[in-house]
This record gives sequence, structure tokens and C-alpha cells, in this order.
Amino acid sequence: MLSKEQTGMPLSIQYPLRDLRQFVDKVQKENNDKFATICFFGGEPTLNYEKIEAIITSFDKVKAYEINFILHTNGLLLSKISDKIADKIDVVFLSLNYDKLLCGGRISNYYLDISKSLNAIKQKHKMSVIGRLTITSETSLTTACLLMENAFDYIYWQIDNREQVDKIAEYKVVYKSEIASLFDYWISNLRCGKVLNYIPFLSIVKNLADNIPAPKNYFCGYGFYSIFIQTDGSCYTCCEAVESSKHKIGDIRGGIKFLDMDITNKCLNCLYLKLCGGRCGRMHKDFSQERITDFCELNIYTFKLIIDALPQLQQILNSNPAFRKALDDYHIDYTEQTP
Ligand code: SF4
Repeated sequence: MLSKEQTGMPLSIQYPLRDLRQFVDKVQKENNDKFATICFFGGEPTLNYEKIEAIITSFDKVKAYEINFILHTNGLLLSKISDKIADKIDVVFLSLNYDKLLCGGRISNYYLDISKSLNAIKQKHKMSVIGRLTITSETSLTTACLLMENAFDYIYWQIDNREQVDKIAEYKVVYKSEIASLFDYWISNLRCGKVLNYIPFLSIVKNLADNIPAPKNYFCGYGFYSIFIQTDGSCYTCCEAVESSKHKIGDIRGGIKFLDMDITNKCLNCLYLKLCGGRCGRMHKDFSQERITDFCELNIYTFKLIIDALPQLQQILNSNPAFRKALDDYHIDYTEQTP
């Protein structure tokens, strides 16, 4: 449920919750889909726990499909979550602010407070937590992952998803070097029997090892299953474009249609489609070809690192059932998979 002040959208939900329930029932039925994932998204959804509880309650008596609830948060108000909500939330996506992780070379109170809240919640409630990080030119991916490893069940990162980034040549050099170090660290842990749930690596290894068929839709769900509902009830297929008519798919009263949102020819003709899944549908519509090529270059660099290590990874896979289990973990599908 989104509320972006700058879009001119109302800050709170304007439609009756029965309309939302009817919309979800209808979409599930039309698609003969027995599973729904309902994600609380922002802005910052934890600013309005009452509404979250009301929405969860409005789905209490659903029989036709199973629901997973996901909370997407910055974590600052997580300590205030009620038991009633926490009992229903299956997955928390916690977006971390890298700039605040360290303070003068030491672990910051920001990070310690978030870790404490997570520990307290997880002692009482069964939920998994995915730490999410945007990689800007100031981010050390390796430092962040090593810090986050103990507090989070899974780690997912995304390359800075803006149309333009300053000093892109430097950004690319740093990102590649960080990915190479992190992959080295990840595989050395695997050799010792320890599986680190770094989702981008797990996803690539899984798709390679299982030789999956080329996807027909974006891994991120753009133009396929991702529906983001604005506060006025209008629906978009990308969480980063909830004000743009290019990504609008309808509204909860009139229904939705995904038009002109298929995976691009560039991706269909790409050798790496099985590993990449097209990365981001919005990127292909909104960004310049030059910028898209930057993303492709960085992800292809990662694919090649993993392809080169595949014989080793296969050996580990044959001898460590925990690695196979990690590759089959459904949490991978909750992310875009490709940074
Ligand atoms: S690497 Fe680029 S062209 Fe290839 S599938 Fe990914 S986004 Fe598409």
C-alpha cells in the first residue's frame, strides 16, 4: 500500500477494504491461483500499524487461496509491531541505509537497534527476515554483507536503480571488485560447509545447476504478477513507478491488464536470459540503452564468475544437502533475483 507524497497521491488509503478484498479475490479466481502474497509497502508502512492490522483482518476468512503477508520496512519502528501483526507476517524485507551502518569506523546505534528489534521479534514469532541493500557508489557490498550476515536470514542487494549515476566508470570498477571479493568469500564458506544465504548468488547457481528453461516473463514479476496498489486504488506493475502512466495497469474497481509489458527482444536474444530474467521491466521502458548496458555488464560479470566456478559448485552441491536446500528455498522468488 503506497503513499508517496510527491506523487500527489493521498497519504492514506482512500478505498474501503472490502473493495481491496474483492479485487484480490477476483484476480486470484481469474488466474486460478491458490497462493497470494500481500506485501505492505511504502513510504513506510509501519507508520500505520492500525491499517496493516485492519487489512490482515479483512483477509481473515479467505478459504479459496492461501496468503503470505510480507512487510517491507526500514526497520525503525519494528520494535513497536503488535503480536497480532507479527504472528501473521511471514517475511520481513528490511531495507538498510548503508550510510548509517557504521559511525566513525564503529558499528552504529542505528544498526544495533535494528539488530536488537529483529532478535526480539524472532524469539517470539516465526518469520524470516531478508536484509535489502541498494549499492550506491559509496557502498562496500562486502562490508555490508559481513555485517548483516548474523542479523538476517537472507541478504539481497540491488545495483543503484536510477536512470543516471555519477561517475559510472568508477562505480563499475568498484562494483566488480566488490562482487569478486564477496563471491570468493561466499564460495570459501561453502567449501567449509557453511551456506550463506546471499540471494543473488543462490539464484544464479540454482538456474545454472538446474538448467531452467528461458523465462517468458521478468523474474521481478513486472508485467506478469506484480501488482502495486496506490492509496487511491490505482494499480501499477512496478513498486518504483507508482506514479507513471507507463507502468499503470488499471485500478481495483475496474480491473487490471498488463499491456505492452512483455520481456524485451534484447533479453529474449541474450545468452544470459536464464540467469538474469531480464533484471527489471521498468529499466527497459524508462532507461537509455547505454544505462541498460551498464546493468547488463555488471550482472554478466557476476554470471561469468559463477559459470567459471560451476564445476566446484557442482561438487559441493553433490556433497552438501544444505546447499541444495538453500537453492530450493522459496524466499529467492520473493526478490527480483538479479541485482
Ligand atoms: S543481461 Fe541484459 S539483455 Fe541479458 S537478459 Fe539481462 S537485462 Fe536482458
